[in-house]
Amino acid sequence: MEREVLEMDVVFVGAGPANLSGALHLARLVKEHNGAVERGEKEGAPLGEIEIGVIEKGSYVGAHNLSGAVMDPRALRELFPDFEAEGAPLESPVKEDFFLYLTEKRAIRSPITPPPLKNHGYYIVSLNRLTAWLGEKCEEAGINIFPEFPGAEMLYDLEDRVIGVRTGDKGIDKEGKRKGNFEPGVDLHAKVTVLGEGPRGSLTKMLTERLNLNEGREPQVYSIGVKELWELPDDRYPAGRVTHTLGFPSDAKTYGGGWIYGMQNRILNIGYVTGLDYRDPLLDPHAEFQKFKQHPFLAKLLEGGKMIRYGAKTIAAGGWHAMPQIYADGVLLVGDCAGFLNSQRLKGIHTAIKSGMLAAEAIFTALIKNDFSAQQLSRYERLVNRSWLTPELRKVRNFHAGFRHGRWLGMANAGLQFITGGRSWGLFDRSRAEAGHEAMGKLSEYGYRGDNIEQRYNGLRFDGKITFNKLTDVYHAAVGHDEDQPAHLHVLDTNICAERCAEEYGNPCQRFCPAAVYEMVEDGASGKRRLQINFSNCVHCKTCDIMDPYQIINWVTPEGGGGPDYKGM
Ligand SMILES: Cc1cc2nc3c(=O)[nH]c(=O)nc-3n(C[C@H](O)[C@H](O)[C@H](O)COP(=O)(O)OP(=O)(O)OC[C@H]3O[C@@H](n4cnc5c(N)ncnc54)[C@H](O)[C@@H]3O)c2cc1C
Repeated sequence: MEREVLEMDVVFVGAGPANLSGALHLARLVKEHNGAVERGEKEGAPLGEIEIGVIEKGSYVGAHNLSGAVMDPRALRELFPDFEAEGAPLESPVKEDFFLYLTEKRAIRSPITPPPLKNHGYYIVSLNRLTAWLGEKCEEAGINIFPEFPGAEMLYDLEDRVIGVRTGDKGIDKEGKRKGNFEPGVDLHAKVTVLGEGPRGSLTKMLTERLNLNEGREPQVYSIGVKELWELPDDRYPAGRVTHTLGFPSDAKTYGGGWIYGMQNRILNIGYVTGLDYRDPLLDPHAEFQKFKQHPFLAKLLEGGKMIRYGAKTIAAGGWHAMPQIYADGVLLVGDCAGFLNSQRLKGIHTAIKSGMLAAEAIFTALIKNDFSAQQLSRYERLVNRSWLTPELRKVRNFHAGFRHGRWLGMANAGLQFITGGRSWGLFDRSRAEAGHEAMGKLSEYGYRGDNIEQRYNGLRFDGKITFNKLTDVYHAAVGHDEDQPAHLHVLDTNICAERCAEEYGNPCQRFCPAAVYEMVEDGASGKRRLQINFSNCVHCKTCDIMDPYQIINWVTPEGGGGPDYKGM
C-alpha cells in the first residue's frame, strides 16, 4: 500500500503532560540556540528549522487525560516560572488535608496526615484542562499537533534502530475491508521518536519486547483509578480541600484507597484506586468504587448531588525497580510509560513533566551532534540520574512491594522507609515481586462456586442516585468509537474463555474492565457461552491488557479520535 511519508526531526507519540512539556522545552532550546548563534553570543552553527510533531489518539488534546489530581508544581514551575500568571488552569491551591481510616460504618480521622499525603503548596487540577493548555502553548511555539492520530506501529531500519512511527489507518470496516472514506496511516519519519503514551503504552509494550528494554528489571505493577465528578447542591465541600482514605471497602490483602477533592463551582471529585495485583478473582474495581460511595461518610457527602462525569485509568505503580531502559537507537521513553510515577504520593504529573524536559535536553544535544544513536541518547538517563527525579523515586522504590503482604505490613514498610531512605529487606524487597496478573488466585482457592460469580457483591445495588452500573457510568465518560471498525481489543485465543477461564477464574475480564467491554453471552446456535467484546465502550484504561490471567488480551489503538472525552477530569 502506498503511504504518505512525512519527514520530521522529532515525533512525540501521545499528548500527555510528559510529551507536551518535552516538545515545548525542545522548541524553546532550539529557538534560544539559534538566536544566540545568530547574535554571535554562542559558537557553532544554528540548527535551523526543527520540525517537531506531537500525535495524539484522542479527538483533541486532553480528551484522554484523566488523573486525580493534586499536582506538585515543582516541574511546571521549571517550565513556566510564573504559571499562575500565565493562566495555567488550576482549580485551587490545596487549603486543607485530611486522612481518614474507613471501617464499614465509621470514618476515623487521623490526628496526623502521613507526610506523603501532605499537599501544602500543591494545586488541585483537572489534567484534561492542564494538557489542553500545554497543547496551546506548544502550538504557539510552532509545534505541530495532530489529534486523532494514533501511533499504530513503530518503524525500524534493518538494524532495529527506530526511525519513526506509523499512524493508524482510517476507514476500515469491521470485516477488515476498506470503506469509502479509507485513508492509509502516514509514516512519520523522525531522527528521534519519543514515546509518552502513559501507563501500558501499546507501542511501548511492543518496543520494550522487541528491544528487550525490560531485561534485568522488575515487572511493572499497576493500579486502576475509577473516578466520578459530582455537582453538589451547596458548599458542603469547599474547593481546595483534599481527603485521602484507607480501609473500606478494600479488604486488608488488597491495595486500595480513596480520594475526595474539592474543585471550583461545587464540583466534587471522588475516586478509588485498586491495586492490579489483587488476589480475589471476583474483585471488581468499579464495584469497589460503588461500595466506597455507599460508606455513610461518602453517601452523606453525595446526598442531593448529581454525578456528571465518569472515567477510569491505570497507574504505573511499580516505581524505580520496574522502569525499563529509557533510551535506545532513535527513541526515548518519558512519563508513565517509562514508570516515572511516585506511587507513595500517587503523583506522576510533576515527574512526567520533568522527564519530558530532560528528554528534550538530551535530544537537543543529539541534534547539535547530529547523532541519534543509543549511546548519544543515553545522555537522557544520565540527566535523569543527576536530577531531583532520582532521589525522589529511589526513596520510595520499595513502597509498593510492602503491600504484597497486605495493608498493615505495607504501611509498616512505608513508615520504615522514612528511616532507611528507601532500603528494604527480605519480605519487602522489590526483587521478589511478580507481575500483577500472577497474583490472581483461582476460584477454587477462594471456595467460590463457578456458577455464581456475583457472590462477592451480592449486597451491592445500583440505585441510580449514589451508585451506578457500568453502562450508566460509561455513558458519563462520553465514549465514542465508530462501531464499523475491527475491535481494537485482540483476544488471541477465545477458546480459553468459555471453559478453562470460566472454570479457573470465572471470566474475570467481565469484572476488571470498568467499562463493560467484556461479556460472556449464550451463543444462540450452539447454546454454548462465548466472549462478546463491546469494544465501543472502551475507556482506554488498559486494565484488560494488564490483568488478564493468561495474558492473551492485547490492547491496540482503535481508529483515531475514538475513546472517552474526559472534559474536566
Ligand atoms: C486515577 C488517577 C489518579 C491520579 N492522581 C494523580 C495525582 O493526584 N497527582 C499526580 O501528580 N498524578 C496523578 N496521577 C498520575 C498522573 O496522571 C500521570 O502520572 C501522568 O498523567 C502521566 O503523564 P504522561 O504524559 O506520561 O501520560 P498520560 O497523561 O497518560 O498521557 C498519555 C497520552 O498519550 C496518548 N496516547 C497513548 N498511546 C498513544 C498512541 N499509541 N498514539 C497516540 N497517542 C497515544 C493518550 O491518549 C494520552 O493523551 C493519577 C493517575 C490516575 C490514573
